[in-house]
Amino acid sequence: MHHKKRKVAFYTLGCKLNFAETSYISTLFPEDRYTKVSPDQQADIYVINTCTVTSEADRKCRQAIRKFINRSPSSIIAVIGCYSQLRAKEIATIPGVDIVLGTKDKFNLVSLLDRTNRKAQTAITEAGNIEEEKEFIPSWSSGDRTRTFIKVQDGCDYRCAYCTVPLARGRSRNAPISNIIEEIKNISSGGVPEIVITGVNIGDFGKSTGESFTELLRQIENLEEIKRIRLSSIEPDLLKDEIIEMVAKSSKIMPHFHIPLQSGSDKILRLMRRRYTARLFISLVEKIRRAIPLAGIGADIITGFPGETEEDFNETFSLIDSLPVSYLHVFPYSERPGTPAREFKDKVKPEVRNERRKKLTELSKKKNMEFKLMNINSIHEVLFENRVKNRMISGFTGNYLRVEHPFEKGLQGTIQKVLITGINPSGNMSVKLID
Ligand code: SF4
Repeated sequence: MHHKKRKVAFYTLGCKLNFAETSYISTLFPEDRYTKVSPDQQADIYVINTCTVTSEADRKCRQAIRKFINRSPSSIIAVIGCYSQLRAKEIATIPGVDIVLGTKDKFNLVSLLDRTNRKAQTAITEAGNIEEEKEFIPSWSSGDRTRTFIKVQDGCDYRCAYCTVPLARGRSRNAPISNIIEEIKNISSGGVPEIVITGVNIGDFGKSTGESFTELLRQIENLEEIKRIRLSSIEPDLLKDEIIEMVAKSSKIMPHFHIPLQSGSDKILRLMRRRYTARLFISLVEKIRRAIPLAGIGADIITGFPGETEEDFNETFSLIDSLPVSYLHVFPYSERPGTPAREFKDKVKPEVRNERRKKLTELSKKKNMEFKLMNINSIHEVLFENRVKNRMISGFTGNYLRVEHPFEKGLQGTIQKVLITGINPSGNMSVKLID
């Protein structure tokens, strides 16, 4: 009975860091006892890695949990990750859930499963105290083999008033650079052209080891096997000139910055307990554009934070409108249990939060179009992905424009020099290969 391999499926919600961690956790399952299958298939065990960044994220997690329970009532259901960390008891009461593991405990999943062969009467719950957690578990994921998300940092020491991430993931910590370099060497021996540097607050890298983020970048750059390095989001106060200069000089670090601005009103930034003013953001965008004229610059914005008046919102709107930003990610404010903002007065009605989100989404489309037009007739390097859709193969430029080209054999997974010729009806850029 026990020599049959158990089928295990993984389902991930949330950020790139979660995807990296799911991948890593899946590698901990010994191949002689477990077979990995896709979450659409029948499995003996479903592992759901959850997110709790918004109430919408919580809802999606509960929905996913219920979906797997309904589809396969006799399978073991393990719920892990951020939402489990903060709401372990609640999740454990959902009938059909067998295992609930928090942020640090999730890495012990295999040993728990080895002892659990059958549906539990009551869920096993382990979501230990994360506040004092010092251990750093490195992780990486490589969905399609062109890009790998590598986790270099975890946790956050900031206490933004709306954010639940420090509660779920604990204090800022990272692995020593030497370990990360070893890991990248291991992964890239399989041939991975692009590395995406991922973490909760990557600009904070080095605090726990007395090293620096730029030193990390320098050492990754020196690895011959790595062709492209992409940065994920960096806090405005941590996006130092040195980083911008490095990106400008480097042929490997992609000219693409993602900055969590959140609001263009200093009043709201202060209430959010962010660590910069709108002025700093303006100067960052100007510096980036001066150093790298075609750099991609993305920004995150939260609409309808408590206290945000029409006037405050308009400040955000006109700030973005006046700057060469290439795209926005807009989120309506969502109250999270355990965060200070939840107790703030002057709540903005959900309809208004959504209206403002819509306005900014429209603005984002306009800015994005301006950015695309600005790039026509310029030359870029594209990393073509493995996916082919409607006989087109696509990939990203360094500055994060999606381009497409009629499928040709041999393009997949390669970096090609292209001339951007226009914008296709799909919204992606059309290109000509040049050599
Ligand atoms: S910097 Fe602020 S928003 Fe980002 S994870 Fe830390 S506390 Fe949350």
